[in-house]
Amino acid sequence: ALRTFTSNAAHELQTPLTVLQGHVEIALRRSRSAESYESTLHLLDRKLDDMVRTVRALLTLTRLDRGEELSTEPVALGPLVRDEVDTVQARAADKGLSLTIEAEDVWVDGQPDLLREAVQNLVDNAVKYTEEGAVRVTVTEEAGRAAVCCRDTGMGIKAEDLPHVGGRFYRSAEAGAAESEGSGLGLALVRRIVEAHEGELQVESTPGEGSRFEIVLDAVMAPATASSPP
Ligand code: ADP
Repeated sequence: ALRTFTSNAAHELQTPLTVLQGHVEIALRRSRSAESYESTLHLLDRKLDDMVRTVRALLTLTRLDRGEELSTEPVALGPLVRDEVDTVQARAADKGLSLTIEAEDVWVDGQPDLLREAVQNLVDNAVKYTEEGAVRVTVTEEAGRAAVCCRDTGMGIKAEDLPHVGGRFYRSAEAGAAESEGSGLGLALVRRIVEAHEGELQVESTPGEGSRFEIVLDAVMAPATASSPP
């Protein structure tokens, strides 16, 4: 497993590096206009962004695999999820998608950066794999459990692919064919983060209709000093 993981990780970084190298070589072959250099730099910036994300995901997975105890604190889920939804709002609007969030006042015990990362991946995916319709995110509390649910009306996942989704570096054939960017680490990270918080990740999906990803965690009491979020 370690060998496969290392080889996948190396491949995942080598591909964009080779692309970057190609673009730099072409840019340097002769002198060019400022616009041309600028467009090359923008491209490098985007590719580097993807690579930084991949390396960050790998580092987080490694850290979580080591089994270190999380340093947790009470986290208000609503505002955290709302922030992540806001971050992708522009991208959803560009695709003509409606992206909504409804959040109850729910608290969990967790590591905010990791929870943010998990929610970001779910919302990112929902927008990435949906071409029309809506992405609806909700934060609710029921029977002492907090749930973050992300529903989309996107391409969905075939039943035979569902067990593989969340495997490290796994991408469905459809995801690859859609030429969407991705390393196949996002859901693996979500799964690992949820596991580290002793929560559950539920996935339901119908090809051509959409998907529903839900993170369920133990809810805790709001700390005495916390004011209710707006
Ligand atoms: P990627 O970098 O490919 O997005 P992820 O680990 O985030 O990697 O997701 C793994 C695979 O699960 C994706 O390649 C895609 O096939 C499928 N997937 C994830 N989220 C969705 C979604 N909301 N709708 C349809 N397919 C999804």
